[in-house]
Amino acid sequence: MLTRRIVLASAALLISVGTAPAQEKLKAVATFSILADFVKNVGGDRVAVQALVGPNADAHVYQPSPGDAKALADAKVIFTNGLGFEGWIARLIKASGSKAPMVVATKGVKPRKAEDDHGHGDADPHAWQSVPNAKIYVTNIRDALVEADPAGKGAYEANAAAYLAKLVALDAEVKAAVDRIPADRRRIITTHDAFGYFAAAYGVAFVAPQGVSTESEVSARDVAKIITQIRKQKILAVFLENITDDRLLKRIGAESGARIGGTLYSDALTDEKGPAPTYIDMMRHNVKQLAEALMG
Ligand SMILES: [Zn+2]
Repeated sequence: MLTRRIVLASAALLISVGTAPAQEKLKAVATFSILADFVKNVGGDRVAVQALVGPNADAHVYQPSPGDAKALADAKVIFTNGLGFEGWIARLIKASGSKAPMVVATKGVKPRKAEDDHGHGDADPHAWQSVPNAKIYVTNIRDALVEADPAGKGAYEANAAAYLAKLVALDAEVKAAVDRIPADRRRIITTHDAFGYFAAAYGVAFVAPQGVSTESEVSARDVAKIITQIRKQKILAVFLENITDDRLLKRIGAESGARIGGTLYSDALTDEKGPAPTYIDMMRHNVKQLAEALMG
């Protein structure tokens, strides 16, 4: 009888939570999946976030759709990465007529300069690849949500604090995993230069035939240079990325003798069924792939 009463009471509790007065959620847009995941974690159930560039898609060369302009027009707050990642966003926001504030989530991140052969110093936009930078994204998102929806201040602060604690643990986990890889083996090849912040934070050297944007062309000379470098530096593994064409790296692998170490998630998450549906999953997956390929 007592058990039955407890069951009924908890059922009633569940129902009351489930049917809490349908409060209008704050509509937010994030330019890409990784940023949308941060917004989800801070926004919790007060925020409905839509990512413009979805899972496994490439934000560098994204072609916006009419639905994107509609989402921006309806949004109360818009989150972008900045550092030149979304070259298409300013024009899209203008075209949408949106008056929502645009938040640059990398505000306060120390930008890494990526210099190409011609000495052009483009900012490297892939700041999220270092967990300490991800914490900066999260605090910027928290502050912007509090401003857009002051009634949710307590919730956003609590959600952000809980998520930041997870990121502190993740950072330690990534560091420990890299530390177990012998220092002279920590060199790999990826398709595009997306791991500069990871390299700086955790001490793994990444070499890429393509620059910080997937827009740049790769010449036969670039490929030859990489193959020479793989042989000279005895680089053990090349990695595919979820957003780039596999063919180039497979060719480099075959010609150099380096093995394919697996797929790294650089600029986009996977869908729910993939190995990296959240940022935390993505970082764990990437470091596990690195360790497996390099510990040999
Ligand atoms: Zn990229």
